[in-house]
Amino acid sequence: MARLNDNYLKLKAGYLFPEIGRRVKAFAEANPEAKLIRLGIGDVTRPLAPVVVKAFHAGIDELAQTKTFHGYGPEQGYDWLIKTIIEKSYQPLGVDLKLSEVFISDGSKCDTANILDIFDLGNRVAICDPVYPVYNDTNVMIGRSGEADEKGYYQGLVYMPCTAENQFSPAFPTEKIDLIYLCYPNNPTGAVASRAQLQGWVDYARANEAIILFDAAYEAFITEADIPHSIYEIPGAKDCAVEFRSFSKTAGFTGVRCGLTVVPETLMAATASGEKIALNRLWNRRQCTKFNGVSYPVQRAAAAVYSEEGWGQVKETIDFYMENARLIRQGLGDAGITCFGGVNAPYIWLKTPGGMASWEFFDKLLSECHVVGTPGSGFGPSGEGYFRLSAFGERDNVIEAIKRFRAQWGQ
Ligand SMILES: *Cc1c(COP(=O)(O)O)cnc(C)c1O
Repeated sequence: MARLNDNYLKLKAGYLFPEIGRRVKAFAEANPEAKLIRLGIGDVTRPLAPVVVKAFHAGIDELAQTKTFHGYGPEQGYDWLIKTIIEKSYQPLGVDLKLSEVFISDGSKCDTANILDIFDLGNRVAICDPVYPVYNDTNVMIGRSGEADEKGYYQGLVYMPCTAENQFSPAFPTEKIDLIYLCYPNNPTGAVASRAQLQGWVDYARANEAIILFDAAYEAFITEADIPHSIYEIPGAKDCAVEFRSFSKTAGFTGVRCGLTVVPETLMAATASGEKIALNRLWNRRQCTKFNGVSYPVQRAAAAVYSEEGWGQVKETIDFYMENARLIRQGLGDAGITCFGGVNAPYIWLKTPGGMASWEFFDKLLSECHVVGTPGSGFGPSGEGYFRLSAFGERDNVIEAIKRFRAQWGQ
């Protein structure tokens, strides 16, 4: 009989969001009159910017005519999109990239997972705890770990706890690490890394010949002036880091699908015999074989994000979400609840009042305030006792949710 990949069976069955869905559904059925407010799942709620929609339509119109039709595009993405991204999004940061160093994709969830194809299974991997679950689960699926222990830590993976005690900025691992996932601004904690902190990681990676997998999905939400938007703003990073970016949260592309991965040509890794090879070559080979590019109209729409008018519209939506974040932080503060994040990221990470467990707080918030959030423990054992609220949503809902928090916990 055909054998399956046993590694998949190591994953814990009840994934976070299905369990939330189950509890919300049960509550809604038992309480049909309750007006639920969802501040849980990290998905955008506002429509695409008008300029982006226009470019998207125009791209489709081109496909409708023989003369302007496009079939397969380059697996790496069209040069005009890559050039626009480099000029509009990287050069203003003082970061210069070659066209060949940027790979357009259908999103960074897949890229952060697919990048594992080009690394040996023997690499030691470090991830933050709590964490975006994709980094953990894809390493389990590919066979880099053993079973999970009772806390939820998989044998063989190295976890870096991020809690209020270390300001959600993990200590450097004490053991030898080859690959380190970092995500700033962070999902779920909303924390950011300062220039000095990122320099510390780059120095650590170079000293240990490790590679940083840097997820910058939320860089566009940074509001404070000196917080780096890209790991490549840090000297030396091109020798030790891959960067993932996405149009999903930046421009509302969660349902459209477009992202990018930067693999600098100076980034090396070793073969079994110790020879140094550029990772760029392997990632290019991987993409050319397993991926056939992002659809033409989507790339047109993505390029429009960086037009002057497009960026203005996109920025307005980001500002709207960040005003939600500000209101939520203020509302929680008024209710006496300690919270973090929400300044440079669309997530507010709160400490559950009275030391409640994350799921206990979830149930209380659902049954008493009719508000849905995400239990921190779902992102990793160190998320226990914390809770994530998302700033994606409509203003009325945010204001109403805050009123309910105040009524429940305020003095
Ligand atoms: C939403 C998100 C992404 C983006 O994923 P896409 O596949 O591009 O939609 C990447 N990383 C993190 C941490 C996220 O929260």
